[in-house]
Amino acid sequence: MIKKIEGIVLTETPYGDNSKIINVLTADLGLIGLMCKGAKSLRNPLRTKTVRFTYAAFHIDYKEGKLSKLLDVDIIDNFKNIRNDIELISYATYITELTYQVYKQNNDNEIYELYKKSLIKINNNLNPLIITNILELKYLDYLGVGLNLNGCIKCGNKSNIVTIDPDVGGYICNKCYIKEKILSNKTIIMIRRYYLINIDTISKININEEIVREIDEFLNKYYERYTGLYLKSKDFIRKLNYL
Ligand SMILES: [Zn+2]
Repeated sequence: MIKKIEGIVLTETPYGDNSKIINVLTADLGLIGLMCKGAKSLRNPLRTKTVRFTYAAFHIDYKEGKLSKLLDVDIIDNFKNIRNDIELISYATYITELTYQVYKQNNDNEIYELYKKSLIKINNNLNPLIITNILELKYLDYLGVGLNLNGCIKCGNKSNIVTIDPDVGGYICNKCYIKEKILSNKTIIMIRRYYLINIDTISKININEEIVREIDEFLNKYYERYTGLYLKSKDFIRKLNYL
């Protein structure tokens, strides 16, 4: 069946001498595999339209549950700002790999929307680390290890929160506090805002660098401990931020 569907390329794998297979996360059909005949050869117009994080309308010959055939591609946004900046490419690569892993564990349609909005915001030059962290926080729910940000993780107390701890995965109040690392009050508040914000509505970001770093460190530790995901592309971003 011939269809035209909106989606973003998550992975590309060479196939034979001059073809490739791509995985596209789509708005309506979930994750689909597409055979792109000839798309590896230099003169083929599909070559540049089937690379990672291409956001487009894909004309396909759809076969449910099987590899479908790519016929043509209409680019919606080629994320020019991202592709011209090596640092932004590494962020986009990381969130693309992360999205693939998250979707494999939970086929929720909302994942596509969150991922798409994040790419758009990074392409619009909003702080890529902050956008990445917001997406990471939101993805935790889909990975089944969402943070409880409604009160102290140990006793439920909603006031006198003194820190947030990646080892227990939530807030700790002054009564339950033992010797966890104290994070700044602003970090404690911002993590909740990151979690609740609608990515669409972000137009300007103004957060102190130290807060940004504390939140990133918190998320790195939490991801390591609870998600079981290891992505090489994240190491590269860490190096960018902690040289
Ligand atoms: Zn408590």
